Amino acid sequence: MNIIETLQQRDIKPSYLRLKILEYMLARKNHPTVDMVYEELSKEIPTLSRTTVYNTFNLFLQKGLVQKLGIDDVEAHYDADISLHGHFRCDHCGKIWDLPVKTDVSQIEGLKKFEVRTIEYYAKGLCDQCQKCQRHSNK
Ligand SMILES: [Zn+2]
Ligand SMILES: [Zn+2]
Repeated sequence: MNIIETLQQRDIKPSYLRLKILEYMLARKNHPTVDMVYEELSKEIPTLSRTTVYNTFNLFLQKGLVQKLGIDDVEAHYDADISLHGHFRCDHCGKIWDLPVKTDVSQIEGLKKFEVRTIEYYAKGLCDQCQKCQRHSNK
């Protein structure tokens, strides 16, 4: 399925900017923030504003095309992969990795009476690169 069809399937009009943003997310798989997308795409689209990027993410979110991650206390990150998976975020460099998750927690007994809308699986700490750097600086 191409990007235009992906948008249309979710009832989203495939405007140039929406295509660009989704294309960015699918190509990078880097769980971008509004700023990350803005910095990159404004090189190509000088009229772009942060608000427009923010509004586009919100539209994608409403239509179930992306998920919003609460893993970072400061900024929201967005993920175009809405399948069941978790994330690891490095406290030092801020990069986010995907983690495979096998258990769907929404199926556990205690949650059955609730209407679950969001479940996030995440771990935080130091990535392998930053562990090396820290070891050097602690000497
Ligand atoms: Zn790191
Ligand atoms: Zn992800």
